[in-house]
Amino acid sequence: MGFRLPRDLHDIHAILSGAGYGCHLVGGAVRSLVLGRKPKDWDLATDAGPEEVRRLFRRVIPTGIRHGTVTILFRGSTYEITTYRIEKGYSDGRRPDAVEYTPSLEEDLKRRDFTINAMAVEIGSGELVDPQGGRLDCARGIVRAIGNPEERFREDGLRLLRAVRFAVTLDFSIEPETSGAMKSCADGILRISPERIQMELEEILRARTPSRAFSLMAETGLLERILPELSAGVGVTQKGRHRFDVFTHSIMACDGIRAPDPGLRLAALFHDIGKPFVASRDEEGVRIFHGHEEKSAELASAILGRLRFPSGTIKRVVHLVREHMFSYDPSWTDAAVRRFLIRVGEENWEDLFLLRLADGYACRGEWPDPRSLDGFRGRILKVLAEKDALSLKSLKIGGRDLTALCDIPPGPAMGRVLEFLLEAVVDDPALNEKETLAEMARRYYKSRLSPS
Ligand code: ATP
Ligand code: MG
Repeated sequence: MGFRLPRDLHDIHAILSGAGYGCHLVGGAVRSLVLGRKPKDWDLATDAGPEEVRRLFRRVIPTGIRHGTVTILFRGSTYEITTYRIEKGYSDGRRPDAVEYTPSLEEDLKRRDFTINAMAVEIGSGELVDPQGGRLDCARGIVRAIGNPEERFREDGLRLLRAVRFAVTLDFSIEPETSGAMKSCADGILRISPERIQMELEEILRARTPSRAFSLMAETGLLERILPELSAGVGVTQKGRHRFDVFTHSIMACDGIRAPDPGLRLAALFHDIGKPFVASRDEEGVRIFHGHEEKSAELASAILGRLRFPSGTIKRVVHLVREHMFSYDPSWTDAAVRRFLIRVGEENWEDLFLLRLADGYACRGEWPDPRSLDGFRGRILKVLAEKDALSLKSLKIGGRDLTALCDIPPGPAMGRVLEFLLEAVVDDPALNEKETLAEMARRYYKSRLSPS
């Protein structure tokens, strides 16, 4: 029995086979089909050279034509198609020195990283081609390097992290010889560009339980090489409500964010990362971590910058880490609730609540009562519903009005006036009227800021 494939693939296959070439489905799509999951994209391989492929299809993007890969645009979808190839020499431990085309599919499959990634499906018949035993490893749930694992990892250090990524996203284990080779070849990760490491981490952070990836990385020595700050938390025990060391607490907090949101999970992973670096002892000799949120924010920023995460992600993560120790007391006035919202940002308070629950879960492996935050949530929703001013945007007066009505020139002083007005309105929303604010601005500017 063969796999049933979409019509487009059969039509692409027909074009190639009409010209005397073969065409196979390869890579992740085959793995997904074998596992009974839905493929997310379709990568193809052929014995036609890239120039032949270009001739046979009307709309083609020469994506990686030097390595034999072109993208076919076919009825509104794109398909990457790569000429069967072998890779020659990996003197830098990252990329092959040269690629060479081969008419043999089996040769092409042999140069791939893991058995589960080295299966193909002949499109015409739907038959599986599986010379490396990928189907059996899929059935057993095993990530196994092809051939000699040490050689595979020495050729390309990124495969170390790919092994972790596949194990975690597929919920597979790593075959012992393969994981042994990961340990002895762990230095290979140091030759890999931060951009490629970042992409793998991003995938890992979308998995159901990312903590497994960080445990595997710790066991194989990858963690101390790419996230030494997280590794520093191993064995750093904590007292009080904590049952785990800082490392275990951190990766459990990451799991505690149930949505596959890489940014929020990074915030959970790094929320306490500064603890080992600020640890001291109180009078009774108990370990304390004074000011750890500031140190954690600083380290999170350094780590994410180093790994070339997008600046928007860095900003969000660092902010959530810095604010994760927020506290609330029912005696707070509405003005205090508004000040909290202004500080953390209207778009962040729900993330901080999720982070607080994850943090609580990671203390002992028990979920805190979700109702513990209900009081504060209710107060926030009330303040938001009243639509009181929470930012300069919602002030009933703007910079232009201040110039026209109060003679205040644009510049830093105007910024100070607006801040002053916002603070006043946060304390007393009734002041948010244009006339009132103009009068306050005039007085404040004249008495405190005017140069004359
Ligand atoms: P997914 O796309 O779901 O992340 P995938 O298996 O398709 O998984 P890709 O990175 O898209 O992974 O690569 C496609 C195929 O190319 C892989 O299945 C594997 O056969 C091969 N491959 C990719 N990267 C490497 C590598 N670093 N070393 C060896 N083979 C690789
Ligand atoms: Mg893929």
